[in-house]
Amino acid sequence: MRRFGLSLLMIAAAGSARLATAFADIGPVIHFTVDATRAPQRILHVHMTLPATPGPLTLYYPKWIQGVHAPIGPITNLAGLKFLANGQTLPWKRDLLDVYTFHLTVPPGAKQVEASFDYLETGGPAGGTATAKLLDLNWYQVVLYPAGKPAAQLDFQATLKLPSGWKFGTALPVESQSESEIAFQTSPLDRLLDSPLIAGEFYRAVDLTPSGEPVHHEIDLVADSEAALAMSPEVEKGLTNVVAESGKLFGARHYRSYHFLLTLSDHTAHFGVEHHESNDSRLGERALLSPSAGNDVGGLLAHEFAHSWSGKFRRPKGMCQPDFQTPLETDLLWVYEGNTSYLGDLLAARSGMWTANDYRQMLAANAASLGPGQPGRTWRPLVDTAAAVPGTFTGGPGAGGWASWRRGSDYYEEGELLWLEAATVIRDQSHGQKSLEDFFHIFYGGPNQGAELKPYTFDELMQVLNQVVQYDWAGFWNRRLTSTSADAPVAGIEASGWKLSFSPEPPVPGRASRRISDTTFTIGLEFGRDGTIRDAIYGGPAFQAGLGPGMKIAAVNHRIFTPEVLDDALKAARSNPRPIELLVIVDDYYKTFSIDFHGAERNPHLVRINDKPDLLEELLKPEVH
Ligand SMILES: [Zn+2]
Repeated sequence: MRRFGLSLLMIAAAGSARLATAFADIGPVIHFTVDATRAPQRILHVHMTLPATPGPLTLYYPKWIQGVHAPIGPITNLAGLKFLANGQTLPWKRDLLDVYTFHLTVPPGAKQVEASFDYLETGGPAGGTATAKLLDLNWYQVVLYPAGKPAAQLDFQATLKLPSGWKFGTALPVESQSESEIAFQTSPLDRLLDSPLIAGEFYRAVDLTPSGEPVHHEIDLVADSEAALAMSPEVEKGLTNVVAESGKLFGARHYRSYHFLLTLSDHTAHFGVEHHESNDSRLGERALLSPSAGNDVGGLLAHEFAHSWSGKFRRPKGMCQPDFQTPLETDLLWVYEGNTSYLGDLLAARSGMWTANDYRQMLAANAASLGPGQPGRTWRPLVDTAAAVPGTFTGGPGAGGWASWRRGSDYYEEGELLWLEAATVIRDQSHGQKSLEDFFHIFYGGPNQGAELKPYTFDELMQVLNQVVQYDWAGFWNRRLTSTSADAPVAGIEASGWKLSFSPEPPVPGRASRRISDTTFTIGLEFGRDGTIRDAIYGGPAFQAGLGPGMKIAAVNHRIFTPEVLDDALKAARSNPRPIELLVIVDDYYKTFSIDFHGAERNPHLVRINDKPDLLEELLKPEVH
């Protein structure tokens, strides 16, 4: 935990004075307490006091979750809902058209309504948000708010009770604290919901502020064990470099201070979600102890950090809604997520957390995952993968199988490749005088006024690109966003002096001996160690043979399946004309399938185009250290 220093308090005070007129009609503060002392039982008890006037009252439970871009507020976890006024229980009714909306009537003479409910959670396969030793708290889980006013004009004051001895980290400013009870400063609902908190028995905060940097940055860690908190000096240095490099890349910051909130547990889901002054990232318990910790942690945290500029400070206008019930328009996610992927991966490489080879491998894997041989692109343009997110969010790439035909969240990977291409266009058009970083400095620049939100439209984005270099930017993006070409957009990679190539070489040098060949780009199959087929490439050799997701490989050429046995069979098939025979469990039946494939192992790589300069080398050079 860290409270804000003097200079930051002054910035905050200046901000509230400026906003005082705009927020003149803010009503009385809504106080609420979250009792998390039963967090290990996965129960949070909530008590709210809502100022009210007699008559009808409509309350909402947050439905649209900003960082996920979808209407998936966890309403099924709300139980025990009761309302009281003037000492009497009030009846309530759920809206027949929206399960997130509750209606009640405030009796004459009442000045406030008390609401109480529990947030229940059983974990489940996706992982919960509390374990025996820690809690990841998103305030959207534990609030109801009145209809009728924008979230920016509803003031909330939260108090949190934690299990004895637990410590916490959050960007939400603290008002006061005793033993295990924390009172937070009053904050508008939109800022509250953008300021999650992590708490736990095993907690550690590490300062990541580079020397000479006036704005405070830290990482707050909670884990299921003390041992898991052992972040190496290399990772600490790498993350400090990410912060330092971000200062150069963007040329501006738009937050009072920044907290990387990292949860290390095998009992929570693993992901990262962006916030303006923090990120809520969750990895396996031993992620910091792995030899590849810098690579794994760096890639995730640099991406979520870059979102403070792309997605939080600058956000597509259709994703800036007054409350958490109004649908989001997500067609510009190729900027919100695609540009962030470009920025985050650049920061991971410039900070030294990724090597140049790691960066090129990422580009190669992105390009390979987009085709040829990934037929979803032939029916579904990139812009649709973004626009359809609210209704097609599945919780992970490939969920449900046949991902190559459905297409997934390609606005990340394809968006990143297209921003690389835009960078090469700016370089070419300006004869090396300008770069995409000039765009970043304009688009993400300006004075630090705390967590400010500046919406943008497609047209405004094009105007800023044209400010950097005059070009048919609208045509450039529209052609790529609506393309149904089978080929991956590799023009940016090729203009950078590299090209996509497949070879038996493993992606990471030196790890060949421990690696089993990846069959995605050979027979078109992804499977688990137990032989369960996770997915098959639509139209690939395994698909042609009749295989599909959910089936389970029992034997390969009459021998019980292991990944190594399949690997041996693929190697032997290169000099053997007979097809590979798989005995497969399909629901309750055993069935034999033949895959007629005799090619070499294929892993995606980038190889140099010798007569072109290596622009990636230049791109990845650190600007600070
Ligand atoms: Zn993101």
